[in-house]
Amino acid sequence: MSKQTPMIEQYLRIKAQYEDAFLFFRLGDFYELFFEDAKKAAKELEITLTGRGKGEGERIPMCGVPYHSAEQYIIQLIKKGYKVAICEQTEDPSQAKGVVRREVVQVITPGTVMEGNLIEEKNNNYLVSVSIFPGEVFGIASIDMTTGEFLVTKVNGYDSLIHEVAGYKPKELVIPTELLDEYEKDLSQRLGVTLSVGDGISEDDSLFSQLQDKESKIACGRLLNYLLQITKRSLDHLQPAMFYLPQDFMGVDVHSKRNLELIETIRDKKKQGSLLWVLDQTETAMGGRLLKQWIERPLVSKDHIEKRLGLVETLIDRFFERESLKEQLNGVYDLERLSGKVAFGNVNGRDMIQLKRSLQQVPSIFETVNSLGSEYATELIGQADNCQSLRELLETSIQEDPPVSITEGNIIKDGYHDELDHYRDAMRNGKTWIASLEQKERQETGIKSLKIGFNKVFGYYIEVTKANIPHLPEGRYERKQTLTNAERYITEELKEREVLILEAEEKSEKLEYELFMEVREKVKEYIRPLQKLASIISTIDVLQSFAEVAEKNHYVKPKMESDGDVSIVEARHPVVEKVIDQGDYVANDIHLNKEREMLLITGPNMAGKSTYMRQLALISIMAQVGSFVPAKEAVLPIFDQIFTRIGAADDLAQGQSTFMVEMLETKHAVTKATKDSLILLDEIGRGTSTYDGMALAQAIMEYIHHEIGAKTLFSTHYHELTSLAEELPKLKNVHVSAMEENGKVVFLHKVIDGAADRSYGIYVAELAELPEQLISRAKLILHEFESEQYPAKRPLTDEKTTMDEIATAREEVLHPTSQDVANQQLTLFGIQEEEKRDRGKGLTVKEKSVLEHIQSLNLLHVTPIEAIQVLDEIQRKLMKK
Ligand code: ADP
Repeated sequence: MSKQTPMIEQYLRIKAQYEDAFLFFRLGDFYELFFEDAKKAAKELEITLTGRGKGEGERIPMCGVPYHSAEQYIIQLIKKGYKVAICEQTEDPSQAKGVVRREVVQVITPGTVMEGNLIEEKNNNYLVSVSIFPGEVFGIASIDMTTGEFLVTKVNGYDSLIHEVAGYKPKELVIPTELLDEYEKDLSQRLGVTLSVGDGISEDDSLFSQLQDKESKIACGRLLNYLLQITKRSLDHLQPAMFYLPQDFMGVDVHSKRNLELIETIRDKKKQGSLLWVLDQTETAMGGRLLKQWIERPLVSKDHIEKRLGLVETLIDRFFERESLKEQLNGVYDLERLSGKVAFGNVNGRDMIQLKRSLQQVPSIFETVNSLGSEYATELIGQADNCQSLRELLETSIQEDPPVSITEGNIIKDGYHDELDHYRDAMRNGKTWIASLEQKERQETGIKSLKIGFNKVFGYYIEVTKANIPHLPEGRYERKQTLTNAERYITEELKEREVLILEAEEKSEKLEYELFMEVREKVKEYIRPLQKLASIISTIDVLQSFAEVAEKNHYVKPKMESDGDVSIVEARHPVVEKVIDQGDYVANDIHLNKEREMLLITGPNMAGKSTYMRQLALISIMAQVGSFVPAKEAVLPIFDQIFTRIGAADDLAQGQSTFMVEMLETKHAVTKATKDSLILLDEIGRGTSTYDGMALAQAIMEYIHHEIGAKTLFSTHYHELTSLAEELPKLKNVHVSAMEENGKVVFLHKVIDGAADRSYGIYVAELAELPEQLISRAKLILHEFESEQYPAKRPLTDEKTTMDEIATAREEVLHPTSQDVANQQLTLFGIQEEEKRDRGKGLTVKEKSVLEHIQSLNLLHVTPIEAIQVLDEIQRKLMKK
């Protein structure tokens, strides 16, 4: 590269230290980007790419954004997962010798952004670091920079790491180089986060020296070091790291959180339609965030759950107190994020007013909570500092309606500081003096339109219109500026006053800024008590939200028992009952105990099998979060974990096929579940061929029955499986009833003991309004199947054939997948034949003839029944000795 100008050299030097970020390089009123950064930014931000330099060939690609509107561009980049390094001029350009000194003052990344519309009120913004140790032990530390929350934990195994980290929905992950080398693709694919390398460990351990183990300390140190490096600011609001073990909470893995739609719906990722949506009647943003955290981490401590439930009950009973509490909470702003801003240094007068207003609510909130007479409520408030001395400081110091800017005055109240009052007097006196001068001059010159004005360039002036100039005594004023219609003048006297006023203004602005900084420093001293207050207030807010929701939706208080039994009378699905017409929801009982550990649920599609399963999971989560539940009566155990394989939540975006996802989720369940867990498996095995799927489903049920003993709900459309209840004593059949009425199926949504007698596939197809001709054909085929061919070959029972099976069987014959072929080969040719091939003897005569037979078929002219006949022949041929 040819020699660069000194400024570009400086750019390149700085850029080399921030290779993974867009470098916003301050040049006067613009931030400029150069080289590759410029090309990429021009595309991402849709701004014009220009060039800098002499000859065409040597022009450096460049683009820029104005300094004052930079924020919106930065936000766009961060949203896309990029990082932005802000490089400012750190000396006055007029004083600089040579190139102005520039330094990066902050790097903004998706996990460290503090402001702007990237921060959602009711969502946390986590930055997470991972450290790896021998034996696949991982340390995980997380910080929400906006609230100061700092958490740390330890897990074993990569799979658990993914689940734990995904629970935070982090925006950014800080990892050592060795982890990046090994897992970069997998981590960014499975977690969809910005990855940052952080190899250093912070030496200052004041926030985590209290931790017991080395792994957690290193995870915290890595995160802090990274933060300090890129934010280059005070992080006084960070709370001491809090250690937890994943097993301190109910384990709900990522799949289950998604499948159960705890926080957002699967399809459009919206809150509406999720459990959070039903439960969120919080009044404060902090409460909203805490509720989300609670739902993501239900409790396992009976004591703690009962404390929450108890206070919810009290709040339901004490309607008036709850009403006032709601009103008081409504006046509380986001104390957590305000403290964060104070520490980070980007707080303004308006934030101080929000802080003051929030603190004004605190005594009455405490009073109301104390008046509830609940032990837990009083314990919650405990010895908390209600920060009223801070409130007084803010009341006396900060003006009611301050501007956004903190450098232009009008922030500090009169009477707070003598010197400021003095300047303000000078300014006010000066202004009165000017007003009286205007009067006096009008009188003496007789020019009524004479006025005294001010502008930033010329200062104070006396303005006389052109028409009145002849009336002006010669030499009375000194001319300063000529306009089209008027002349502007000054006098010695006015000049002197102007100096006084401007000096006072300048001094007062400067002093106000200093005083504001002083107030801010004092507020900083309150960060810990403010955070404590925030935590109390948000807890109360969530509990009042539970009370509100319970009352509105007629929930009951669950009884938490330790014997492992589930007994729910008239359970409802909290979300479905809200979205269907009122009163249409059919409540169902759920009973599980030692003799009835697993339920096999059959019934037509759309009958409500999956809704029934989900409602148990949601009710359990609600209870363990401390909420009342949608039922008439509920006795529940404390589940240590919930596993689900429900619905068609494809992970295709992440490159996994539906069936693979199904198996991964199942593996996760069967390897991690204990006898205290709840497992929900919906239509397991559906994603593969019939026999294959059925075999797997049966094996999974047997495994859970014999090896795990977890409470399990299992839905299936393989009716053959219902006979399993005869072999597995703790498995019971239930079915969701449906009725045929005038050739149409009517879903009753009622869950009844015993197996369903048939599947209603064709009727569902009819409901979906498939062509009539097709439906009649299906009915005919079904009839044929039921009467002759197929049932004879069914492996498990002699019950009627289901439509799904016919469809699958036909599918298998006509369009075998490679998986099917592989499976069939194994069963068709048997182990002995396999071995023969292994020994290099090629195909047997039998195999050859079978393959030739298959090859000779014209599939376009084969009916499903003929295909099955062919299969039958093949099988017979192969079984012959
Ligand atoms: P399945 O799993 O048997 O195919 P779903 O559980 O998905 O059926 O239920 C299908 C639809 O039926 C649901 O979306 C809901 O609208 C309705 N539904 C299910 N259970 C009930 C119920 N207990 N009361 C009223 N409507 C229900």
